[in-house]
Amino acid sequence: MPERRNHLYFFYKHDEQLIEQVKPLMELAQQSGFVVVGDYRNANIIVSIGDDGSFLQAVRQTGFRNDCLYAGISTLPSHARGFYCDFHIDDVNHMVQSMKNEQIEVRRYPIIQATIDDTASFFCLNECSIRSGIIKTFVMDVFIDDLHFETFRGDGMIVATPTGSTAYNKSVNGAVVDPLLPCIQVSELASLNNNRYRTLGSSFILSGERKLTLKISPEGNHYPIIGMDNEALSIQHIEKIDIVLSDRVIKTVRLKDNSFWEKVKRTFL
Ligand code: NAP
Ligand code: MN
Repeated sequence: MPERRNHLYFFYKHDEQLIEQVKPLMELAQQSGFVVVGDYRNANIIVSIGDDGSFLQAVRQTGFRNDCLYAGISTLPSHARGFYCDFHIDDVNHMVQSMKNEQIEVRRYPIIQATIDDTASFFCLNECSIRSGIIKTFVMDVFIDDLHFETFRGDGMIVATPTGSTAYNKSVNGAVVDPLLPCIQVSELASLNNNRYRTLGSSFILSGERKLTLKISPEGNHYPIIGMDNEALSIQHIEKIDIVLSDRVIKTVRLKDNSFWEKVKRTFL
């Protein structure tokens, strides 16, 4: 691992237009004393170029590294930057200068760790979602720290990080959560509520010290789809998912005048 934080890896979709846009950026970085590396394992700054969806992929495909700084460069039209992109491709000078002068502060985003059937573990930066894969509802038992909390019947559930709270979670009326609070938010997708089936009905927020367990009922033998941010899990026959907040965090650059609440205001108000 290089000592100085100056080894850059660029993560982007290698289509013609982006390749053209990234070229001058790489040159600028090199002229400014950065080393551009071709293998992300040799980098200590990983730069994603694209939209928020690309940033989620950049973090996932480079293994949720906690010894790296992640930076997002937006390619959205009209200078829009989204939630994970602090810079815009049309204004990268600004980025190179602020990194060079170490004007940036580090922001730490909590991530979720989901363990499937006590074996495979996965991280999520936005959310872990579980959804019926068929037209019928599916049933699961929800446990909080081994307390049987409710039996859910419906379309599914979303377990979101604070930074994920403005994504899928928000579309189902979940609360927007400050990323300075280490916690996970659980939101329902169309739960059935009647005299036979009962769930809390509202989103709830768990402390980062707690564990959420979802046990999928084998009834009907229909297995749901598990989503980790913008990727579907390829494991199909899942019986149990344990979800906790990870000890690990994702470090991103923080610029002045670009706090989480500024982004929320800019995007939604
Ligand atoms: P997508 O379907 O293009 O994403 C949907 C929108 O969510 C995009 O506009 C994306 O922004 C935005 N987004 C992603 N992360 C966000 C965040 N943390 N805060 C606010 N907005 C955010 O797929 P994608 O771009 O690969 O993003 C994957 C995410 O989409 C999932 O993690 C999930 O949260 C979300 N999603 C939402 C719904 C829903 O709202 N009904 C359904 C499925 C998935 P960009 O345009 O900048 O990428
Ligand atoms: Mn997208």
